[in-house]
Amino acid sequence: AKKHGKNRYFWFEPVMETELRFRGEMEGGIRHGITAGEFVPYYEQQIDLETGKLAGFEMLARWNSPTFGLVRPDVFIPIAEEIGLISPLSESLIEQALQDAKTWDPSLTLSVNISPVQLRDPWFSQRILKLLVKHNFPPQRLDIEITESCLHENVGVVRSMITSLKNQGVTISLDDFGTGYSSLAQLRSLPFDRIKIDRSFVTELKDANASAKIIRAIISLGDGLEMPITAEGIEDTNILNTLKAMGRLKGQGYLYGKPEDASSVHQRLERENLL
Ligand code: C2E
Ligand code: CA
Ligand code: CA
Ligand code: CA
Repeated sequence: AKKHGKNRYFWFEPVMETELRFRGEMEGGIRHGITAGEFVPYYEQQIDLETGKLAGFEMLARWNSPTFGLVRPDVFIPIAEEIGLISPLSESLIEQALQDAKTWDPSLTLSVNISPVQLRDPWFSQRILKLLVKHNFPPQRLDIEITESCLHENVGVVRSMITSLKNQGVTISLDDFGTGYSSLAQLRSLPFDRIKIDRSFVTELKDANASAKIIRAIISLGDGLEMPITAEGIEDTNILNTLKAMGRLKGQGYLYGKPEDASSVHQRLERENLL
């Protein structure tokens, strides 16, 4: 930084230039990385809290970039959306995940996140179903997590897409429930199979605080709608025990471990006799 205020203009310009260059490098890196196989699936355990048994994994995308290191999805997903590459990127990750999950015990499910942008594409469901056939993967083992923001899309298109996936046995979860403003409207207009309580409520959970009351209310909402619930972001045993006392839930979070790559998952399943 320059010492004198009068030079402010010259202080900002290089920063913007650096940012633009960074952005350009990210975009180029993403383009190249897709074909170079730099995008890899990581997996987070999903547990049946009542039995403590492993129920499946949620796939979380990572970018193994030679320039930027291991990049989190919050960084590259929005850019991939903007430059129109989210579909090929996501579908390549889903295809890798199907191949990984095929080697797991068939009782284990695979959850994948998709971007609301993908729901605009009327051929999305067809391509997913094609991937399932290509890899001979039982549709019943695949769960697709959709965030609330997809209600901004054309609801008719989204509904018919969801319906054609569900008709083949794929399940659909409403992700990040409780955030945003359309949660209940979303539940009413689309045929979800499961609700995922957003991490922000779970990490704040204490015996009788507001988050506890909200989680209780979501659980009874789920009971009423006959929709099972998953709690994400379980970080310690206090939270786990409070949740277990509230009802029959699935859960996931750092208490069970951080997301890990396919080979670590493989080793874990080998130890647990789940291959
Ligand atoms: P999400 O679907 O809500 O996934 C959970 C995120 O919380 C993951 O971050 C996970 O690593 C993190 N997490 C899990 N347990 C805990 C915990 O106990 N404590 C804390 N503090 N964090 C926890 P990640 O992997 O960085 O993913 C961020 C978001 O990126 C995901 O949020 C999801 O919305 C999105 N995402 C991931 N993979 C994909 C993808 O393939 N496609 C699309 N469209 N979005 C993706
Ligand atoms: Ca998710
Ligand atoms: Ca979340
Ligand atoms: Ca999310």
